[in-house]
Amino acid sequence: MNPADEHHKPWETQRRGLLLLMSSPSGAGKTSLSRRLVADYSDLTLSISATTRPPRPGEEDGREYHFVTEVEFDRLVTDGEMLEWAAVHDHRYGTPRKPVSEALDMGHDVLFDIDWQGARSIRSAMPHDSVGVFVLPPSWSDLSRRLHARAQDHEEVIQRRLARGREEITHWGEYDYVIVNKNFDRAYADLSHIYRAERLKPGRNTWINDFVEDLRTEGP
Ligand code: 5GP
Repeated sequence: MNPADEHHKPWETQRRGLLLLMSSPSGAGKTSLSRRLVADYSDLTLSISATTRPPRPGEEDGREYHFVTEVEFDRLVTDGEMLEWAAVHDHRYGTPRKPVSEALDMGHDVLFDIDWQGARSIRSAMPHDSVGVFVLPPSWSDLSRRLHARAQDHEEVIQRRLARGREEITHWGEYDYVIVNKNFDRAYADLSHIYRAERLKPGRNTWINDFVEDLRTEGP
């Protein structure tokens, strides 16, 4: 193969995908950053978890979650179809394995908007494919202000989220990268640079050996 041949672009087709694990305390901007990254990169999709909790108003099956019965969730776990799962409050949540492995094999990437426990489970199941990014708020008062500004939760719920956030941030050291979201555009630039650089790691680019061999032997 001629490496300069426009019809052969192995770097576009022979890459193993990666799993981008994004965690943060609630209100630090992780969801907005994740949504923008998924919108900007066509080979990155958001992982949709399965859950036994009922949909909230406005939620759609297959968009926020796959809403399943207890029996169906049991079956998914027994058949080994869950990459990881956890019980949170009265319900169970889990990451279906199949869409993740299919995406990786096709050279597509999957973003997880997930707490530290879920991130830890996925990382231990697939250590070489996982890249962890932790998003911190610039200050605690800023985080509290953002949660209050959403104006969609009761004070009690906000206080619970803040308390949970204090626990969540103690796990920042388990991640490969940490972003302080003081300014959204700068935080987003950092996130997209991390994502783009991780895609270039040699271990994810199975074509390099053959490509370099062709380069070495090409021409006179
Ligand atoms: P909610 O019911 O508010 O959407 O989510 C409740 C909790 O479930 C959140 O803390 C969220 O991080 C967690 N969660 C959602 N999906 C998953 C998942 O696939 N695996 C695990 N381990 N936790 C999840």
